[in-house]
Amino acid sequence: MSDCCKAPGESKRQEDQLLCQQCGYKGQPVDRTTIDALLKPESLSQVNGSQYAFCETPSCPVVYYAADGTQLKKEQVRVRVGLKETEDPVPACYCFGVTERMIHEDIQGTGRSSASARIRAEVKEGNCRCEVENPSGRCCLGEVRQAEKRAAAERTGRDQAVARSRGKEIEDAAICQDSGPDRVY
Ligand SMILES: [Zn+2]
Repeated sequence: MSDCCKAPGESKRQEDQLLCQQCGYKGQPVDRTTIDALLKPESLSQVNGSQYAFCETPSCPVVYYAADGTQLKKEQVRVRVGLKETEDPVPACYCFGVTERMIHEDIQGTGRSSASARIRAEVKEGNCRCEVENPSGRCCLGEVRQAEKRAAAERTGRDQAVARSRGKEIEDAAICQDSGPDRVY
């Protein structure tokens, strides 16, 4: 198994905690291997020796940045960066091609999603390649589980809405019955 799926290190060095010059938030340090694998070839020449970070701000167009001011934006990356996209396809897992929509449809349809279990099994087999497939360079399992939770919460919300409208129908029916024997149905 590659070490991309191990728990993140305890303490990050101070110089690793650089802020994105575009949005001002602190990104996550990312390996040069990840950047080299995911940048479009024409942007590779912009990458130099500095420490890079991955910007996790959904609305920020910058994907990678370095302390020296280098910024690499969404359009310079080969893949769609899931956390910065709101329109389909929004990748959730890069190694095994799972999208937010697939998880959503699974849960809306059957109430469950097999995505995280399937990915966990693949990871166990050593088949994940997050450091060269996922723009964050990290394991997608956490993100996939979040997506499953969001979809499940949405489904519960929908079920509650259905239950509420059923409750309303029963109330309506009761009102109709109260409206007297003359009423023709
Ligand atoms: Zn940013």
